[in-house]
Amino acid sequence: ATPTAVMVATGVGANNGVLIKGGDALEKAQKVKYVIFDKTGTLTQGKATVTTAKVFSDMDRGEFLTLVASAESSSEHPLAKAILGYARHFHFFDVPSAIKDAQIQGLESKSSAWLLDVSDFSALPGEGVQCFIGGNKILVGNRKLMTENRVAIPNHVENFVVELEESAKTGVLVACNNDVIGVMGIADPLKREAAVVIEGLKKMGVTPVMVTGDNWRTAKAVAKEVGITDVRAEVMPSGKADVIRSFQKDGSVVAMIGDGINDSPALAAADVGMAIGAGTDIAIEAADYVLMRSNLEDVITAIDLSRKTFSRIR
Ligand code: ADP
Ligand code: MG
Repeated sequence: ATPTAVMVATGVGANNGVLIKGGDALEKAQKVKYVIFDKTGTLTQGKATVTTAKVFSDMDRGEFLTLVASAESSSEHPLAKAILGYARHFHFFDVPSAIKDAQIQGLESKSSAWLLDVSDFSALPGEGVQCFIGGNKILVGNRKLMTENRVAIPNHVENFVVELEESAKTGVLVACNNDVIGVMGIADPLKREAAVVIEGLKKMGVTPVMVTGDNWRTAKAVAKEVGITDVRAEVMPSGKADVIRSFQKDGSVVAMIGDGINDSPALAAADVGMAIGAGTDIAIEAADYVLMRSNLEDVITAIDLSRKTFSRIR
């Protein structure tokens, strides 16, 4: 391709909301053999919503939600935000109307006064959060977090979590002083175009793959809905780049598409890194392409544009 052709293609990309960072990036996309998709915020809308809150102790429901929300209040994770939103809503709108009116009059719904004091907070990437509330050790996260803290998961709780996961939801376990006291079920709907884009890539001879820190059962359920058969789940934030390298071993050209901070090493390791425009700045910086519309159809637009610009037989 001539420099003019590259310039024109870059302009066509920009007009379609596909920012291409240089001619090298434009050229590589035509040879892509695997497209590795992050799950949360890339294939899914990244709008996690609590669908279930189940208390497995004699704790009052409101008390339970306040405790979980307080533990998550310092976390930036989408799951944490979903839990806070749900608890806030419960706290201010699902209580008897007399109390509700009093609270709304006090405009407390705008403040965080209902949250409990938290000490010794720590966020454990890929696992959850840990903290102390009123002298009690609180854990909120996945099985790994529970296992590492020697919290036993009773059978009836495990069964409940499995049920959530089989319907593509994430089960978040809550423990107080090493006893599981409840589970939150969280759903994150697929982007509307996801399945069509996966089908389109397959038709182009490109193999789609999904990589996620989420658990295997949820990952497989989501992958099945969207039409992806190759799944890598329970991948620690540091491990996504290793997944990319494993696909590059035989010389294949690999594209990674992601939105999160934990995707940036993988975006950098990939031959073609594509960041979701609505994603974090760190991901956008690490990528070769930015999909400004945050629409997965633009993965196809990008590959198409490269193929049309560089293939000799056309
Ligand atoms: P992803 O690859 O989907 O972005 P992460 O690596 O951010 O996933 O997280 C992986 C898993 O770790 C989550 O599915 C969840 O089970 C657990 N986790 C991480 N952070 C939190 C949190 N703040 N609260 C509850 N669970 C969490
Ligand atoms: Mg993500």
